Amino acid sequence: MKKAIFLLAALCCIGAGVAGQSSRTVVDTWYNRTEGQISGPFFIPLANANPFLAWSAVWESNAPGMWVRFASSAHQFQDNWEWIGPDDHATEMSGRTVGQLKFTVASSRFFQIRADMPVGDIAFHFFNPGPETTYTPGFAEEALLGCPCPLPPPQRRNDWCPAGNCPPNPSPSFTAVSHLIVHHSATTNTATNWPAVVRSFWDFHVNTNGWADIGYNWLIDPNGVLYEGRGDNVLGAHFCGTNGQTMGVCVIGDFTTATPTAAALNMLDQLLAWKACSISADPLSTMFHNNSGLTLHRISGHRDGCSTQCPGNAFYPMLPSVRQSVVDHIADVCNAVSTPEQEIITSEMLVFPNPAGEQINIKAPGISEGVLDLFEMPSGKAVRSGGAFRGPVFTFNISGLPAGVYRSRLRDASGEERNAVFIKQ
Ligand SMILES: [Zn+2]
Repeated sequence: MKKAIFLLAALCCIGAGVAGQSSRTVVDTWYNRTEGQISGPFFIPLANANPFLAWSAVWESNAPGMWVRFASSAHQFQDNWEWIGPDDHATEMSGRTVGQLKFTVASSRFFQIRADMPVGDIAFHFFNPGPETTYTPGFAEEALLGCPCPLPPPQRRNDWCPAGNCPPNPSPSFTAVSHLIVHHSATTNTATNWPAVVRSFWDFHVNTNGWADIGYNWLIDPNGVLYEGRGDNVLGAHFCGTNGQTMGVCVIGDFTTATPTAAALNMLDQLLAWKACSISADPLSTMFHNNSGLTLHRISGHRDGCSTQCPGNAFYPMLPSVRQSVVDHIADVCNAVSTPEQEIITSEMLVFPNPAGEQINIKAPGISEGVLDLFEMPSGKAVRSGGAFRGPVFTFNISGLPAGVYRSRLRDASGEERNAVFIKQ
């Protein structure tokens, strides 16, 4: 009886998928056969995928996975079974398993399942990432204040998702980052269109995992291109459910046996140098991480927080050399391009509490009077101007400012300038 009801529901879903959406569809099915039996074939109601077909599955059991194969016609299946196991980054739930994100050729229209044990109800998600986009990298952004390392120019969301159908969480939470967490995506190391892969991650995280946005703050492809995911200081979904105070960076690829490309590692150095330097974190140090209750390297791998293979058996042992590369990058590259003006910027200014509520306190030793301005990040738009600073500790009302990241700038009569970044909750 249950099967009959479920199949009825499945047919409704297939109908809705065909009529309502051209880029995404769900096929609900049921697979409860004994070992070795082959299902289907099932039809994929999503035509004209481009440049490839992204797919994932959720099954209502704790079965370790199943075999899946694809074909362009119901009569032309090859012996090309692919194993789909649980995704390392999914939210764990008893009796429900989220499978890994996979890619298959765009012409696939049918699939079959083979399992070694009952799998239960399964929902297959298919996603068409859409055609290639053109993007010209911009210039490196200004260094965050207090640090001469610039943020390498990233592809922003509008660049990697120009159709605008991968929106951010409309009400994100923010966090003051203390730890930088390195991941791999455990997906293919070869693709013709990496922005399409990033769009697939967004779809997987939002529509299969059920998260509010793509899980990572940043992503890096094998060509060394940086993508802005959730963005700077936004609370992510990547670190064992203890995401507070972390920044998640995903190096795209599967580094179980392969290692990241030199281009990807170079971009990772630049990104981590920018962030470590801006939060005054020694890349070689460890620090207690409140959310997990663990003492962790400031630059850690996902597996340092919980049981997972991420960032892969070949990549994880490279993290000590990544930390050293970040130190070298800050010392050799960032400081080589710093100017006397930037050294003034590095002078001390403290904003507390951070994250802040309705007011901030500002301390700038050596400056007794000055003008305080606040700017929204990352746009740089002025949101408060001309505050009259009086030391040694000045309290400034920020009620009415929306939650987000802000830069405070203090200038005294001699032109000395100090800056600090803070988060408004
Ligand atoms: Zn991870």
